[in-house]
Amino acid sequence: MSSNSSLPAQALVIGGGPAGLMAAERLAAAGLRVDLYDAMPSVGRKFLLAGKGGLNLTHSEEREAFEQRFAERAQALRPWLDRLDGPALRQWAAGLGIETFVGSSGRVFPTDMKAAPLLRAWLQRLRAAGVRFHMRHRWLGWAAEGALRFAAPEGERTVPAPAALVLALGGASWPQLGSNGAWQGPLAEAGAEIAPLRAANCGFDLGPRREGAAEAGWSAFFVERWAGQPVKPVRLVFEGRSGRRFERQGEFVVTARGIEGSLVYAASALLRDEIAEFGEALLHLDLLPNHDEAQVLAEVRRPRGPRSLSTHLKSRLGIEGLKAALLYEVLDKAEIQDTERLARTLKRLPLRLAAARPVAEAISTAGGVRLECLDEHLMLCQRPGVFCAGEMLDWEAPTGGYLLTASMASGWVAGEGAAAYAKRQA
Ligand SMILES: Cc1cc2nc3c(=O)[nH]c(=O)nc-3n(C[C@H](O)[C@H](O)[C@H](O)COP(=O)(O)OP(=O)(O)OC[C@H]3O[C@@H](n4cnc5c(N)ncnc54)[C@H](O)[C@@H]3O)c2cc1C
Repeated sequence: MSSNSSLPAQALVIGGGPAGLMAAERLAAAGLRVDLYDAMPSVGRKFLLAGKGGLNLTHSEEREAFEQRFAERAQALRPWLDRLDGPALRQWAAGLGIETFVGSSGRVFPTDMKAAPLLRAWLQRLRAAGVRFHMRHRWLGWAAEGALRFAAPEGERTVPAPAALVLALGGASWPQLGSNGAWQGPLAEAGAEIAPLRAANCGFDLGPRREGAAEAGWSAFFVERWAGQPVKPVRLVFEGRSGRRFERQGEFVVTARGIEGSLVYAASALLRDEIAEFGEALLHLDLLPNHDEAQVLAEVRRPRGPRSLSTHLKSRLGIEGLKAALLYEVLDKAEIQDTERLARTLKRLPLRLAAARPVAEAISTAGGVRLECLDEHLMLCQRPGVFCAGEMLDWEAPTGGYLLTASMASGWVAGEGAAAYAKRQA
């Protein structure tokens, strides 16, 4: 997958994830000679992993709603999406022979759900357009006169400064797939402002199960029996101390140390920021989202004769298994016999979260190169000719296809900007 040339490249891309590949595509389309370097033996490893659970390429919702997923960055990302939004990305995929469909949640997937055929077709098209791939080259930073230092299989190697450079080095999640955030050092030295990298779309560790308790986390018995199991359907409600609110129905998974999964990821930015500010985040679970409070109280109060409480909850409300176990994690024996307390807890079971899981385990990364130190072409103001794209930039979004769309859209913008810049240097 590697070729070499002693000629300086006109344009160089470092990072062969979706952002870097898109930048390379735009550079090649503009007629530039493009060399792409990546630390790993092959490109697009995270993209391929994303395809394991069904590649969620983008989302079909209206543009306005789509933009709002980027929260305070919505406005800054608008010009990227003007280049490549959900419908445009579907069309782009169709150009590679990959048809897509809209799932029941509005998420968009390739018809076969996989990432590998798309990546294969994309690489073929890039090679045909003249993009040359240099694998196993980990960028270390700059040498004199803008030359680029790489750790390569044969040792350290220096590549002459290209006319334009696109860095698309990813965030810091799943470092085993290539992106480890080590770019922060050289970029800070080059004058880039970098917001601290934080976990996004991540799981959490549980704090004390009861207010004031010294011990944190689930009971050993609970972990042994339930870790890895989903809680569903459930409504997660979070009311932050600074007024931010989240409420949604879905499902999540119990882990050995806390919680993770789609519903938790959706709330994770708020939960993470709450913990950073106040030391913990308190959320509530509605274990019976399809019953109102009065119904739950009436059922709990209903005389149960000789039946046990567990049997009663199961037959009257369908509470059993993991949901029942959750009750016993937060209520003691006396509390669970208190019908009002029990009914209240079924509708508002408190969970205290103590910490977000490390960024290495997260689906994505928040923080990164601040957009304020880039121009509208995503060129570093302090370092003309150097462009940045993808998850290494300071934006975040929930899962739902927004991460790939914004990564690729920013790659498009940076690639076009770099092409124009390189041409001006010629
Ligand atoms: C389990 C999982 C599932 C996901 N599923 C989805 C999904 O379904 N939909 C969605 O929208 N998003 C999903 N994502 C997120 C999505 O994959 C990322 O947001 C996206 O890959 C970011 O693209 P990128 O090009 O910016 O970075 P990356 O994909 O991380 O690519 C960066 C590239 O740069 C290379 N690199 C890094 N540092 C160096 C260096 N110093 N020198 C040379 N090369 C370097 C890396 O090897 C890598 O190839 C998922 C993520 C995970 C972890």
